Amino acid sequence: MKAIGTSSGIAIGKVLVYKEPELIIELKQIDDIDFEIKRLDKAIKKGIEEVQDLYDETLENVGEEEAQIFNAHKMMLEDPEFIDGIKSKIKEKKVNVEWAVKEVSNQFIELFENIEDEYLRARALDLKDVSKRLLRELLGIKSTDLRTLKEKCILVAEDLTPSDTAQMNKDMVIGFVTELGGKTSHTSIMARTLEIPAVAGVKDITQITSNEDMMIIDGSEGLILLNPSEHEIKVYENKKSEYERFNKKIQQMKGEKSISKDGVKIEIVANIGTPKDVDSVIQKDGEGVGLYRTEFLYMDSDNMPTEDEQFEAYKIVAERLKGKPVIIRTLDVGGDKDIPYLNLPEEMNPFLGYRAIRLCLDRTDIFKIQLRALLRASAFGNIKIMFPMISNIKEIRDAKRILEEAKNELRNENISFNEDIEIGIMVEIPAVAIHSDIFAKEVDFFSIGTNDLIQYTVAVDRGNQDISYLYSQYHPAVLKLIKMTIENGHKQGIWVGMCGEAAGDEKLIPLLLGMGLDEFSMSPSSVLKARWIIKNTSKKEIEPMLDKILSLPTAEDVEKFIDENIIG
Ligand code: PEP
Ligand code: MG
Repeated sequence: MKAIGTSSGIAIGKVLVYKEPELIIELKQIDDIDFEIKRLDKAIKKGIEEVQDLYDETLENVGEEEAQIFNAHKMMLEDPEFIDGIKSKIKEKKVNVEWAVKEVSNQFIELFENIEDEYLRARALDLKDVSKRLLRELLGIKSTDLRTLKEKCILVAEDLTPSDTAQMNKDMVIGFVTELGGKTSHTSIMARTLEIPAVAGVKDITQITSNEDMMIIDGSEGLILLNPSEHEIKVYENKKSEYERFNKKIQQMKGEKSISKDGVKIEIVANIGTPKDVDSVIQKDGEGVGLYRTEFLYMDSDNMPTEDEQFEAYKIVAERLKGKPVIIRTLDVGGDKDIPYLNLPEEMNPFLGYRAIRLCLDRTDIFKIQLRALLRASAFGNIKIMFPMISNIKEIRDAKRILEEAKNELRNENISFNEDIEIGIMVEIPAVAIHSDIFAKEVDFFSIGTNDLIQYTVAVDRGNQDISYLYSQYHPAVLKLIKMTIENGHKQGIWVGMCGEAAGDEKLIPLLLGMGLDEFSMSPSSVLKARWIIKNTSKKEIEPMLDKILSLPTAEDVEKFIDENIIG
């Protein structure tokens, strides 16, 4: 079966189909009130046992803070107001327990959702979880908890949210297969960071396959084989060993400098989503962090992370990288990344909507807290600040003005920070690339975000697999914008990096070197391979080919040219 390979490597194992079970609640009039109340008591008892287990496991495997959420769930299951509310509903209205649970939960959820206090408002989410747990128990529906997987499996899902992937037991998931998503969806990015083979865009796979089926996925080729033959398993076991051998060879790049065959020094840094990812950056010998996507800090929490919480996260990353550059991107939410407690508006075109810097300049309360945390952390390492989704100059000036306000506040409070902190922007909107000579005067660096730059240049939703054939980093128009941005940045004396997925693309790395890209930021798992490519490529040999490549008619022509003249 053909798919889009989103994270390379081969996985062979059993399928686990991950679905949020549908809870259909019918209203029934009942006579036996005692019977319904007994069913409720039993479901509550079971629910308490489950959350207690989750508490214990999370405490052991993750930490106290994360485990607390299950303590809160337990308290809800024991809360007399909630439980008595359900019982009264059964008695007074003579309705089935499922209906009563749904009604009473909804009343409380609505109540919580309308509270001013942010912390209490976030409890609505917990109550939703608790009520679903009770209903699943009452309806006899089993759900899969990704935190507590006990057996190694290939996870098959319609899609996985960033919180699903953040929560799952990473030792047990050996591969991902999703119906939705493409190379740059956040699930795919996460898969690459975790070095889990993954494929996406496999239509109806959750219907076609079921638990316990055997599956092979080849994330490099974008292939899946369902219930493979003995022979196929053997072939792929060999391929897997070969892949692992090549990976071993690349390990020799550890500790080496990133210098091209003709002596051009560049920087190969890594993209991270959480402070924990620094482990892989260090392990893969990344020369720093070129993109820290801070939105995960907001997404993995039920409420807004405080200034201190953010400060701790940024400080840990900066300290662990010991003076190596750490580019931290301010909140880039919206698009395909939601934060429930922000109550973002439903939009017709979320990727063109209220997101990232647009939201931050509107909600300066949220923005200022993050900037203060970033500045405070800058005293502990080499932090640089990067603004996402910039589309016009005024946004940069406004963001810098708020940054100055934050600096002044800290000065007045006698809190130290790096006075000369570097400020950069993501170049991910064509308008900025085209006008990059002017934008370059406002900042210390550019980082080209190809994931979005491609989608906005060719007008193709980066997560829509039906049109993914049109989304290509080899599109000559995209390459022209990249070259223009690098040249304009250099003319104004600033350095230019790239933190979109294209920076780690084997075929594109030589071209980017030829164009003069200074910094390549990619999933930690690609760092050593990229260094190997750089060491085996000469910038001088690529430069004369660029004009020809940029004048080719199609993305396919570009890829073919690279295959025939550069890689092969
Ligand atoms: C990009 O758009 O290239 C990028 C790096 O940002 P994100 O993938 O988080 O949108
Ligand atoms: Mg982006």
